[in-house]
Amino acid sequence: MNAKYFYLHTIGCQMNVYDSEQIAIRLATLGCEQTASMDRADLIIVNTCTVRAKAEQKAFSLLGRLARMKRNKRRLIIGVGGCVAQQEGQKILERMPCIDFVFGTQAIDRLPGMIQQIEARRCRIVDVHMDEAPDMPEFLAGTQAESQVSKFVTIMRGCDNYCAYCVVPFVRGRETSREPQSILREIRALVENGVREVTLLGQNVNSYGKKQNLDMFPELLARINEIEGLLRIRFTTSHPKDLSSNLIAAFRDLDKLCPHIHLPVQSGSNRVLKRMNRKYTKEQYLDKVAKLRDTCSEIAITSDMIVGFPGETEADFEQTLELVKTVEYDGLFAFQYSDRPRAPSVELPHKISEPLKRERLQTLLDLQEKFTRRKNKVLVGSTQLILTDGLSKKQVSGEPESTGQALQWMGRTITNKIVNFYMDELPADTESLSGKLIGVRIDKAFSHSLFGKAINAEPSAGRLKGVENYAA
Ligand code: SAH
Ligand code: SF4
Repeated sequence: MNAKYFYLHTIGCQMNVYDSEQIAIRLATLGCEQTASMDRADLIIVNTCTVRAKAEQKAFSLLGRLARMKRNKRRLIIGVGGCVAQQEGQKILERMPCIDFVFGTQAIDRLPGMIQQIEARRCRIVDVHMDEAPDMPEFLAGTQAESQVSKFVTIMRGCDNYCAYCVVPFVRGRETSREPQSILREIRALVENGVREVTLLGQNVNSYGKKQNLDMFPELLARINEIEGLLRIRFTTSHPKDLSSNLIAAFRDLDKLCPHIHLPVQSGSNRVLKRMNRKYTKEQYLDKVAKLRDTCSEIAITSDMIVGFPGETEADFEQTLELVKTVEYDGLFAFQYSDRPRAPSVELPHKISEPLKRERLQTLLDLQEKFTRRKNKVLVGSTQLILTDGLSKKQVSGEPESTGQALQWMGRTITNKIVNFYMDELPADTESLSGKLIGVRIDKAFSHSLFGKAINAEPSAGRLKGVENYAA
């Protein structure tokens, strides 16, 4: 490859973050180095998302900026990947003369060949080929010297659920699970490279393996739980209809499985759930929530919610608010409904106006905020076991600290809450804290994070193994 430096911009979900890493690894093998500076790059790739209208707008506005940049740098190669690429294909080349190539969600393995062709012949390429029964691409473990503490690992791709509002089955293709051996190999390699936590990714991880009769998800978790050196396991996303009692039991039985589940409900009204094609009722959902809490009392539950689905009445929306009050989520991602190309709900009548959607979203967010704060406040005074990611983000970006503490670290509780913390006596090598489990006494609670002090205490009952204590 002739290109020396590439710049990679990722929009969207964790799946895209993982795909971008896979893209980066493939380009690095060809001798192209990743740069954080757009200006320095001779190859720019934008990995896009189309799940909501806003994400797609974001992609096109960035591409507009790149088009202006290319006017002064004609040799620059620009590629568009991910879900917008899959959805729009050739149309992107027609709409934007500055784009050299478009590659779909199943084309990552073919990317190096595409770039080499463009360099050789200065042609333009579209590869949005999708297989009905796709193989999982070969996953490559990174060789980056700076290992991160926590990594995403894709265990399945695509989705066959066809929720009425959703574009994912069309742009990510058929649901395909990865071989357990390949997943275990990747995780072992990551752990050898310093990774201590993995988040298993899929649109619907709890239907893992169902189609191919592979290891079922709870079994896969049990095997990952045995990997030495790994401290924590997380996964996302779980579809409520596929949440089995075996999976619920895993939260009790597997010591590395973190007690947090993201269990998107989307609406609290059975009428809307039916029109969304979600295949469960509010009552069935609440029953699963109760079982999760009976089995694992400390479990944190988060959710996604869509407001303003076509035909959503005031009474439907009230039921959504009621459900949020009943469940008392630890966190909630709420979105205004937007029409997506090919999603069946585009055809539904009684679209909700933008101002009403905005108003409902705000009402829902305000309600949830109270629960998030309350849940965080309960933790003040307790000692939490934190897996340290590294220095606190604020510190890395040079923002002044309001707390007056010289050095702060950041990590997460087992329930996935962000904690910034300090310690009285600094260890000799501050970097050495990354990847360590530390007992932290929580002193303050905010809406989106907690703050505390590392203490010399045994973390509660040694729930997760491998505790090291660096506190004074
Ligand atoms: N596979 C995951 C979610 C994938 S999309 C699941 O089934 O839960 C992430 C979230 O985006 C969804 O949970 C939903 O809340 C939201 N979303 C998807 N399509 C949307 C649309 N057309 N308008 C608004 N929100 C949408
Ligand atoms: Fe979309 Fe539904 Fe599949 Fe999630 S389960 S990706 S919301 S179709």
